[in-house]
Amino acid sequence: MQNKLRTALEKLPRATLLYAPTPLHPLGNLQKQTGKEIFIKRDDLTGIGPGGNKVRSLEFLLGDALAQNCDVILAAGPAQSNLCTLAASACCALGLECVLIHNGKSPERPQGNLLLNTILGTESVFLGDVPSEMRNIHMESLAQKLAAEGRKPYIIKNGATSGRGALGYVAGALELYEQVIQTGKPIKTVFVPGGNGGVAAGFVYGNYLLGMPFDVKVISVEYSASELEVIMADVIRECREILGLPFGIKVSDTCEIIDDYSGGGWGQNTPESEQAVKDFPRSTGIFIENIYTSKPVVAMLDMIKKERVNEIPCILHTGGLGSLFAQF
Ligand SMILES: *Cc1c(COP(=O)(O)O)cnc(C)c1O
Repeated sequence: MQNKLRTALEKLPRATLLYAPTPLHPLGNLQKQTGKEIFIKRDDLTGIGPGGNKVRSLEFLLGDALAQNCDVILAAGPAQSNLCTLAASACCALGLECVLIHNGKSPERPQGNLLLNTILGTESVFLGDVPSEMRNIHMESLAQKLAAEGRKPYIIKNGATSGRGALGYVAGALELYEQVIQTGKPIKTVFVPGGNGGVAAGFVYGNYLLGMPFDVKVISVEYSASELEVIMADVIRECREILGLPFGIKVSDTCEIIDDYSGGGWGQNTPESEQAVKDFPRSTGIFIENIYTSKPVVAMLDMIKKERVNEIPCILHTGGLGSLFAQF
């Protein structure tokens, strides 16, 4: 299983951005408080820019761009988009040009991820107060304009949540599997965040291809469980076509999608998630942020307390540090 997956991944174009594996380690002080051994997979330490999950997706997306001889990368998102800053950072590492498209106004004093984009010198377009769909429309027309000028643009679609982007977490699941074997610990339950579903789809597909060594809990931070399941199934279908390995099972038979901790959805904090942004670093020394990483922490600790987690749990830290500085 493992070798077949590794071979299939090795056939695909991939840019090296991540000096893997990212650390997997226990949270000793938190164990004192909860009475339970807990591991963390440090995908906040993916080695480029402020780090985070999108670096894994960018390895496959920018690998594809380079294989097609593209010379300018377009990415879009809200001002504090982690994808935009990580794409800009990765382009610097690979010597590619990058243009970012945001809705909203260019701020007088950039903060958080926008400050990092400014330091990187990345060209940023601010569309003003327009609906988020306008970002894609603008990105398409910019790509056409650049192509007419003789450039070869590459568009990163949908915040890197695509079949190709999700390959990052197919590879990520394999990486974690190999690390867990090395620890000799019965790490079985893995908590992953579910935003647009790219991380979750990739991880679930990778886990399936490995014979389901992990019991995956997807903590939705945005959609209802049933909506997220449909999105994940679509992403896995696209991903399967690229990888060429089967997925003959329903998404709901491969993981538990939990939407009890999402509050009002994307960017809507809950009292518990706001508290976790302070409590978690105070007992681990590791920062989390409000949108993606605090709700999975709340979910994990609550489920441990309610004795719904038997084996040793592991939380996937997906990063987002750049945006933390603009969340207060
Ligand atoms: C984008 C992002 C996620 C969620 O990824 P999806 O693939 O959209 O579910 C999680 N954490 C951080 C820090 C992110 O930037």
